[in-house]
Amino acid sequence: MQKENLVLIGNGMAGVRTLEELLKLAPDHYNITVFGEEPYGNYNRIMLSPVLASEKTIEQIMLNGEQWYIDNGITLHKGKKVEQINRARREVIATDGTVAHYDRLIIATGSVPFMLPLPGADKAGVIGFRDIKDVDTMLDTASQYQHAVVIGGGLLGLEAANGLMKQGMNVTVVHLLDTLMERQLDKPAAAMLQKSLAERGMTFLMEHSTAEILGQERVTAVRFKNGTEIPADLVVMAVGIKPNTELGKSAGLYCERGIVVSDTMQTITDPKIYAIGECVQHRGIAYGLVAPLFEQAKVAANHLAKHGIARYVGTVTSTKLKVTGIELFSAGDFIGNDKTEDIVFKDAASGTYKKIVLQDNQVKGAVLYGDTVDGSWYFQLMKDGTDVSAFRDTLLFGQHHLGDSGHNPDTRVASLPDNAEICGCNGVCKGDIVKAITEKKLFTLDEVRAHTKASASCGSCTGLVESLLAHTVGGDYSATPKTKPLCKCTDYTHDDIRHGIIQHSLKTMPAVREHFEWKTPDGCPSCRNALNYYLLCAYPTEYVDDAQSRYINERAHGNIQKDGSYSVVPRMFGGMCTSDQLRAIADVADKYQVPTMKVTGGQRIDMFGIKKEQLPAMWKDLSAAGFVSGHAYGKAMRTVKTCVGSEWCRFGTQDSTGLGVKLEELTWGSWMPHKFKLAVSGCPRNCAEATIKDIGVVCVDSGYELHIGGNGGIKVRVTDLLCKVATEEEVLEYTGAFCQFYREDAHYLERTAPWIERVGLEKVKTAILGDAANRKALYERFLISQQPAQIDPWKARADGAEAAEFTPIMIEA
Ligand SMILES: Cc1cc2nc3c(=O)[nH]c(=O)nc-3n(C[C@H](O)[C@H](O)[C@H](O)COP(=O)(O)OP(=O)(O)OC[C@H]3O[C@@H](n4cnc5c(N)ncnc54)[C@H](O)[C@@H]3O)c2cc1C
Ligand code: SF4
Ligand code: SF4
Repeated sequence: MQKENLVLIGNGMAGVRTLEELLKLAPDHYNITVFGEEPYGNYNRIMLSPVLASEKTIEQIMLNGEQWYIDNGITLHKGKKVEQINRARREVIATDGTVAHYDRLIIATGSVPFMLPLPGADKAGVIGFRDIKDVDTMLDTASQYQHAVVIGGGLLGLEAANGLMKQGMNVTVVHLLDTLMERQLDKPAAAMLQKSLAERGMTFLMEHSTAEILGQERVTAVRFKNGTEIPADLVVMAVGIKPNTELGKSAGLYCERGIVVSDTMQTITDPKIYAIGECVQHRGIAYGLVAPLFEQAKVAANHLAKHGIARYVGTVTSTKLKVTGIELFSAGDFIGNDKTEDIVFKDAASGTYKKIVLQDNQVKGAVLYGDTVDGSWYFQLMKDGTDVSAFRDTLLFGQHHLGDSGHNPDTRVASLPDNAEICGCNGVCKGDIVKAITEKKLFTLDEVRAHTKASASCGSCTGLVESLLAHTVGGDYSATPKTKPLCKCTDYTHDDIRHGIIQHSLKTMPAVREHFEWKTPDGCPSCRNALNYYLLCAYPTEYVDDAQSRYINERAHGNIQKDGSYSVVPRMFGGMCTSDQLRAIADVADKYQVPTMKVTGGQRIDMFGIKKEQLPAMWKDLSAAGFVSGHAYGKAMRTVKTCVGSEWCRFGTQDSTGLGVKLEELTWGSWMPHKFKLAVSGCPRNCAEATIKDIGVVCVDSGYELHIGGNGGIKVRVTDLLCKVATEEEVLEYTGAFCQFYREDAHYLERTAPWIERVGLEKVKTAILGDAANRKALYERFLISQQPAQIDPWKARADGAEAAEFTPIMIEA
């Protein structure tokens, strides 16, 4: 079949999304040519705000680099503006004279910022906020000048102001009305937002109308209608956008506010020409968010693929703000009227505000500030017109409250139904994400983004997607936080904080929080647990472990099971045991009527169904029989799995069990960033599966191969070979050094596999192999940290430590 020519004008988010959808449906239907005025590939415009705030780089926000066009046989004319469409000849002509013939044409020219026609608005330093060029101008200005004025306290204005403030400028936001973001927020939520931004250093001039921009060539000040003036080296106008209809109009296409299209996204003037994105007006509406544009893209692609069944009928939109540390969501009619009722919750101290507007027991709108986990649920209820009368009294507490209680976002997201929309921009539901995670064995946020597009646009649902990942993949999920802040309580990363702890001798959690100007007085469960580990690692002999900054399993020194009981795994070094030890375990099992016993994957005996209050007595008996905790519950050294080795096996090259015992004696009790498993196989047949462990030793005739960074969970990762050594002493030294390097370098909750992939094998090799003195120093530090760590937590608790943890709470009648 002869291919037709398809030309796209506008290399932005809506146009290229249409091509992506089309390539899925009909990859061979068209010869595709793209014209883009900007000199880049296709990038995520939404993410310009995080680029301005130095939270992302331009490379990180590229959606389709130039290779994508080559791979898909698309001709890209970047940096070329189309100035004319000749409908009679079916040609487009660019400013440099390039001509392309089309059978079908897509216009996706987006919007242009609305610039207030003020005297002086043409001076240098007065810009909009739309593209990479604007961001470059802002970054450049911030490096030379001090004062920025942002006109407009809407979504875009506040994101610009926040970014400029992060670049060190003094920023004043000028707003015509008395509340910020009046189209998305009601007054209480807007007041909380303003307070929070003011606390970060943003200045506001509310109810101010700009009269003139002053200066010679370049702006130096802004004058208001009330006669006052403020200094300004940069003025960003963020007062709205206008659909870019210039080209459509000149081609004689019918335009009102935007280029008018039908439900098939064809222009009503010429069915060979489609228009899509912000330049379009559909059923009277011109949209300014990506979620509707992506829906439009699907419909246009469907028609271009000649399936011809899809119709675009409009989109209900919701809003989120991309200012790190500020959670904000709004949708629908959040103000209400005399026919509606409001349900409101406000806790100014914790910075939480929720308002749900109901009419006839249906959600008509919602505003959430501080806690937005349930935003997508309210949005779904609103779009579905669900009758909420059955759960109206608990509606404000969120969906999770319908079942279990609890305020951990991880468990709350777990209780959402499969059809709950998680990513509003791309319309991705929970069920799609969970299916992709399990079927395609996804392991990281980036993989989920690549497969489902969830969280790939504005990123506001990233927390929810991460919670889903954590919940679906369980303990094997690795957040690999890269440059993300440690948690919402701080803007600093894991690495900033670890370095600061050492550099400034910070030895307690309050000292760390004070030094890094924590946003919350006591932190949250995420940062408390991470800080507890980082301090313990940095000051093993001085820092006193804080039991309350540990997960329940670590506090209870047992693994909580689904019925609330615990499992108990005594340590059996190297998997070896004697008949006396087995008898002692059997006696304990009988005495406490253990309902189930099982040999674990790590070759230890697990006793299930133990009540929490029974634990100390049971541990006392086990400790009397010579057992210590197996740490089968902790972010800690777990077990060393061994094969029988040269003592019994015909193929064994070395004493793998003996070495396993020595390794476990060296490493037991160590707290790690995440769980940590070892194994020793007596020959390359590898019966102990050493090549999927954090450290695996494979014995060979001439010595021992040391393998690192393996993982046997949902996403299996085979180890990397670190090196080969000749003696058992070297195995112990290299293992201790590796453990310590991982302890000191990885982020809390990052297993060795993603850690090595993040930092690179070379870095690990350099630290352990590159410099013998460094290796020995690491090993020394590991041995020092082991002195306080190898105190059996079970014995300590059997002797009375943390007694309150194991005493049942009495409720008086
Ligand atoms: C800073 C910022 C933050 C945002 N945050 C959010 C958010 O959080 N959530 C959200 O949903 N939306 C957000 N948006 C809006 C979102 O980016 C837009 O809705 C989306 O990019 C519009 O897509 P589009 O393809 O219609 O236009 P664009 O992405 O603007 O693409 C249009 C392209 O066409 C090119 N072009 C124009 N005329 C011609 C011509 N004659 N010849 C060749 N090329 C031409 C332009 O140079 C441009 O590259 C944000 C926008 C900005 C600027
Ligand atoms: S593999 Fe078994 S023990 Fe592990 S999480 Fe799944 S069901 Fe639980
Ligand atoms: S790994 Fe080798 S030495 Fe160990 S049991 Fe298997 S065959 Fe024997």
